[in-house]
Amino acid sequence: MSNAPSWGRLDKKHRAIASFNPSNAVADKQFYLAYGNGRSYGDTCHNDQGTLLSTRHNSAIISFDRESGLLTAESGILLGDILQYLQGSGWFLPVVPGTKFVTLGGAIANDIHGKNHEKRGTFGCHVTSFNLWRSNGSHVQCSRQEEAKLFAATIGGMGLTGIVTQAQIQLMKVASHFVEEVKKPFASLSGYFDMEMEFSSASEYSVAWVDSLARGKSLGRGILMRGDHTAHEVQPDYGKPRLKVPLTPPISLVSGLPLRLFNTAYFHHNKRQNTNHPTHPDSFFFPLDAIAGWNRLYGPKGLFQHQCVVPLEAAKEVIPQLLAATHHAGQGSFLTVLKRFGSIASPGFMSFPRPGYTLTLDFANQGRTTRQLLHRLDAITLDAGGRTNPYKDARMSTDTFQSGFDQWRKLEGFRDPAIQSDFWRRASAPTETDAAAIAAATIAAVRSRIAPPPLATPVNQAAKGEVHTPHLQPKQDNGAAHPAAMGPK
Ligand SMILES: Cc1cc2nc3c(=O)[nH]c(=O)nc-3n(C[C@H](O)[C@H](O)[C@H](O)COP(=O)(O)OP(=O)(O)OC[C@H]3O[C@@H](n4cnc5c(N)ncnc54)[C@H](O)[C@@H]3O)c2cc1C
Repeated sequence: MSNAPSWGRLDKKHRAIASFNPSNAVADKQFYLAYGNGRSYGDTCHNDQGTLLSTRHNSAIISFDRESGLLTAESGILLGDILQYLQGSGWFLPVVPGTKFVTLGGAIANDIHGKNHEKRGTFGCHVTSFNLWRSNGSHVQCSRQEEAKLFAATIGGMGLTGIVTQAQIQLMKVASHFVEEVKKPFASLSGYFDMEMEFSSASEYSVAWVDSLARGKSLGRGILMRGDHTAHEVQPDYGKPRLKVPLTPPISLVSGLPLRLFNTAYFHHNKRQNTNHPTHPDSFFFPLDAIAGWNRLYGPKGLFQHQCVVPLEAAKEVIPQLLAATHHAGQGSFLTVLKRFGSIASPGFMSFPRPGYTLTLDFANQGRTTRQLLHRLDAITLDAGGRTNPYKDARMSTDTFQSGFDQWRKLEGFRDPAIQSDFWRRASAPTETDAAAIAAATIAAVRSRIAPPPLATPVNQAAKGEVHTPHLQPKQDNGAAHPAAMGPK
């Protein structure tokens, strides 16, 4: 047993974790799940009814073609290690998230997005092929041409289709890894929307930090940060964290007064900062990585992250509603980020991003009140035609997930039967409506067996088609249909 936490640190369970061996099939009847570097916030990387298989030791770079920019690596490598390897080459990862400590396999499984979704889409858009291990020990080579359906199910498929052992990606040509950054303050949300439309499409990267506590005329004030790669002779060294949070404080340090002071200071400090000199990629892309274990600052109960995307046309109305809901609940978000997603479609059919604005909020876990707030945020999002990000989730309801992702049954069809996650158990369970329909059908079926045949009427109700039996069946997760004989679909 070992502790394999997710970034939210919502519990202190010890989880069974073993090293993944791509040469083996799994023989016994239990469930498995790939575990990359645990940078998911919630339970997509957990599998409490089985064993996690760590990929971190499979982390070699297999080949790199400097001419074409095609790189092949094992799936347990960290994106930061790929960037370190690429320094000075003129190539860069086309999509990077807010931390460099995620694995290549995790980046594919959660089809990560960066600050340049409008320009480059998601990580999966740049994956040319991968090798997928299935629980029967087979290896399937997948690309847009070969096993194309499995390819599409695996990108953004939360590790459910098998374990990616190695992948090839097309890199992006850049002047250098350094970025010329421009920061522009906006005094309110409407200021953001105006500025974003006007300036951000011109830059490779664009993201806004929002002061989630500002109210009234200042609601949604913040700083828009734009950036483009720029020529620079110095090679960046992708550093280790400079500071460390040595222990978990007994209470959250990122709520209440400390949060208010931080937000105000951050806004006023940055509104005058306009750097026109090359910024180190660690500072531009991964500022939080400088502090190891910063998630501890949220206190012993951990944190929830809520990320939603809402359609472009609804955003001006909905983003203020989402912020107002956090105010109403008395819960401030420490790291509030607003970005625009563009229209480049991912090859993965479950991929989270879609055209619109995406708001990300972090909350210290305060138990029921926080969960109620998150539920409220889901409801506002769904009402607006948007959806909540499952990759960062730890608690969304089955209804919320299934309403936002109508292709989820298709992913279930591609799931390797020996693979399961806590998230998927929860999110693919029958919804309340399904459960009610199943219960009604069961009662009707039992009644039709035990009730005596009607004496007066020759044709009973069921024969007239008035007893409706829904096609929905409760899910069976008992391992009955275990894997070993299963091949790729
Ligand atoms: C500070 C911070 C900033 C972040 N910023 C962003 C961001 O800007 N954009 C964004 O999209 N995400 C962001 N994330 C989320 C993070 O990028 C993803 O959750 C990522 O998938 C984590 O990768 P990991 O290697 O830690 O995988 P894990 O968290 O260990 O696992 C994630 C999922 O990938 C699956 N998986 C892992 N390896 C494999 C494999 N080899 N084969 C198949 N499945 C596999 C797991 O089963 C699980 O379902 C951020 C997270 C943090 C902590």
